[in-house]
Amino acid sequence: MDLDRINELRAQPVAPAFHIIDGARSAASDGATMQVVSPLDGRVLTTVPKGTKADAEAAVAAARTAFDDGRWSDRAPAERKAVMLRWAALIEENALELAVLGVRDNGTEIGMAVKAEPLSAAATIRYYAEAIDKLYGEIAPTGHGNLGLVHREPVGVVGAIVPWNFPLMIGAWKLGPALAAGCTVVLKPAETASLTLLRLAELALEAGMPAGVLNVVTGEGAVIGAAIAESMEVDVLVFTGSGPTGRRLLEASARSNLKRVYLELGGKSPNIVFADTADLDEAAKVSANGIFRNSGQVCVAGSRLLVERAVHDVFVEKLAAHARTMKVGDPLDVATAAGAVNSLRQLEQNLGFVEEARAAGREIMGGNRILEETGGYFMEPTIVTGVSPQDRLAQEEVFGPVLAVMPFDTEDEAVALANGTDFGLAAAVWTADLSRAHRMVRRIRAGIVHVNTYGGSDLTVPLGGVKQSGNGHDKSLHAFDKYLDLKTAWFKL
Ligand code: ADP
Repeated sequence: MDLDRINELRAQPVAPAFHIIDGARSAASDGATMQVVSPLDGRVLTTVPKGTKADAEAAVAAARTAFDDGRWSDRAPAERKAVMLRWAALIEENALELAVLGVRDNGTEIGMAVKAEPLSAAATIRYYAEAIDKLYGEIAPTGHGNLGLVHREPVGVVGAIVPWNFPLMIGAWKLGPALAAGCTVVLKPAETASLTLLRLAELALEAGMPAGVLNVVTGEGAVIGAAIAESMEVDVLVFTGSGPTGRRLLEASARSNLKRVYLELGGKSPNIVFADTADLDEAAKVSANGIFRNSGQVCVAGSRLLVERAVHDVFVEKLAAHARTMKVGDPLDVATAAGAVNSLRQLEQNLGFVEEARAAGREIMGGNRILEETGGYFMEPTIVTGVSPQDRLAQEEVFGPVLAVMPFDTEDEAVALANGTDFGLAAAVWTADLSRAHRMVRRIRAGIVHVNTYGGSDLTVPLGGVKQSGNGHDKSLHAFDKYLDLKTAWFKL
């Protein structure tokens, strides 16, 4: 990585940002702005518009018009593909700029930010662009004398509400298939991670995407997000974020036009280590990364460690030893393993979970805010042992670098613990017994079950939750299902 360039970029002031509505930059209708506070030092980085309901409505109107007049969906698939491929190339060309801007905004360590943000977003957009002219309709196997054609049509205007942990990656998981399908989009970034998504929309325009096809509106969730969710002109709502907000979106859909709502709501994902694991050292290292990278701010983070009692103490010690080697600090230093917590609110929430565990008599390694003198929001990797399955720490998502550890004795007990929360996003099983691995994959209720690893996967496989982790899938060709409608044409021959 180009360290001089990183330092040069971090020293640059960041100009105030603007919505991207109907192909143009615009301020909030009443001129209001929100301060963007950097989690690296607690200082104001720049401002973004504090959008109004009218701004959200203007963006939806632009997206509606752009969809209805066919300026995007009626273009030949190969032309749309060319625009999206140019867009992906521009994102790659600007990868370091985007990554540093994102890190200053949300605190993710730069190594992970480059890979998981601009580069992953570019790869995602390219993946869906390449699929545009390879999606066929169907001819139904009807009886004699009839012809049944099944068309796949873009659903229309998509509202996308995304979180702050990986704005470009998660944003691209929605934008890639939605735009490739021919939909138009109104995207609302999280309050604490708007800057890179605004830049992404500018690059789309530069690549030749028509005005109004991709609109980005910044502001508060309760204002902008709610206006998109309540809109009569939005056909589909896609969301990644918290459970309470997900519920509000479903209610808003029910109150308005019954728009389809696809939710990815995080998890409390179990990482299950059996005593027969072939390489406990490797498992400990991967498990530590699986919870502590990006300060635990990963929806699939392995935040519950379930360990077979026979290896509990030795495994926890190995994991703790690895955690102690993970350097927490300046996310723009390439040696850093975990950067800053995204916001003061999130840091306080993390520390609140630790305090509660301490008060309940749980054993805690770490658990503190560190580097407070920098003004930034840093927290050390934290391991809590002796956690009871009923503890809030075992049931609720912290979204911070806090690992809850519980022992188990039998496979059945591991399954019961693993499935004993409202969530079902991700899981992992570590074992040398192939039959057990397959049994566990079947028995664990989660959208993804890793075997002898944690995290990792690529674009070719779907990501989505079961139970209260949500519905619908990002990634893979299955993601198109959210953005393409089926229409039947029935002919009498
Ligand atoms: P978190 O607590 O992790 O920030 P949220 O669910 O609050 O999770 O945020 C995820 C996204 O949802 C953000 O873009 C946020 O602005 C948006 N959001 C928050 N509240 C609402 C709401 N009432 N309606 C629509 N969107 C919202």
